[in-house]
Amino acid sequence: MSDRFIRQERLPQIGTEGQAKLAAARVALVGVGATGSHLAASLGRAGVGRTEKGGLLRLIDRDIVELSNLPRQTLFTTADVESVRPKAEAAAEALEHIDPGLALEPVVEDLVSDNANQLLGDVDLVLDGTDNFTTRMLVNDLCVRDGRPWIYSGVVGTEGQLLVVRSSTACLRCYVPELPAPGTLPTCDTAGVLGSVVSLITSLVATESLKIILKDDDVRDGEVFVVDGWRGDVRTVSLSIDPTCPCCQRQSYEFLNSQSAAMPTELCGRNAIQLPPTGAPVDLESAAKRLAKEGVVTRSRFLVRLDSPDRRLLLFSDGRVIIDNTQSASEARSVRAKLLGD
Ligand SMILES: [Zn+2]
Repeated sequence: MSDRFIRQERLPQIGTEGQAKLAAARVALVGVGATGSHLAASLGRAGVGRTEKGGLLRLIDRDIVELSNLPRQTLFTTADVESVRPKAEAAAEALEHIDPGLALEPVVEDLVSDNANQLLGDVDLVLDGTDNFTTRMLVNDLCVRDGRPWIYSGVVGTEGQLLVVRSSTACLRCYVPELPAPGTLPTCDTAGVLGSVVSLITSLVATESLKIILKDDDVRDGEVFVVDGWRGDVRTVSLSIDPTCPCCQRQSYEFLNSQSAAMPTELCGRNAIQLPPTGAPVDLESAAKRLAKEGVVTRSRFLVRLDSPDRRLLLFSDGRVIIDNTQSASEARSVRAKLLGD
């Protein structure tokens, strides 16, 4: 290896042997927004998941880069917003410029029970970069079932949290037993988010990730880190296994077994509804022609976007549709029927 990682190799905790382990690691990032893009940058720069050793950095995200993402989401530029790029693709390209040796796999899909095995089943570590507990519970189910380590992290307002989940320690469901009812928790939409807290929490997650990959004895599982980014406080709260936990104790993997993939989803911070694929084959070329009668159409490898005076619609190559300026699934469905005929 060149001297790219020489300063890291000098650390007694890593060394040349540890650096080789980082290169060989296979890591999936679920969500490449605020926390996910910071984590991708941190791990990629540290040499995690390089081609020469059979490593992998899989970047999974369902959405495109938006202007309001740029204050917090590293790796993206105004040009990505203008060219309607999916976050996964834009992040992978930015990382490739940083280190062409990285084994990057952008995935422009929504992680759901149907594809969770395929997207997370062949990696050593899963990192949470999502903004919702439904996806986190799904990741928790799959990783606990398979004994695969994963790290939950989230940032709202000026506070961030993280939890390392490994077999034999408490899981996310020991901490959050049920899905919070819609509207009961503050979200980045209602409470805002301070960009510097994202850097704080993801620095801690990135360090725990390296320790997990290196099989270091000092991995901090079984405790929740709580970061108050405004005051600059980091504290930890120990978390015991809940003997009634449906996931890690009763092995009833409800989120993995549910059909959440079939449900429309409200997207946090977007005033938009995502409709799942209908199952009909997707032909972006003919959809673009059809939509061109309605407004300005932009086409890329992964999607078609329509901008019309009263509407914006995204059709992805996996069949998902995102419709802006609505929070009603039935309105979104009728817009899709009118514009795409299904
Ligand atoms: Zn549990």
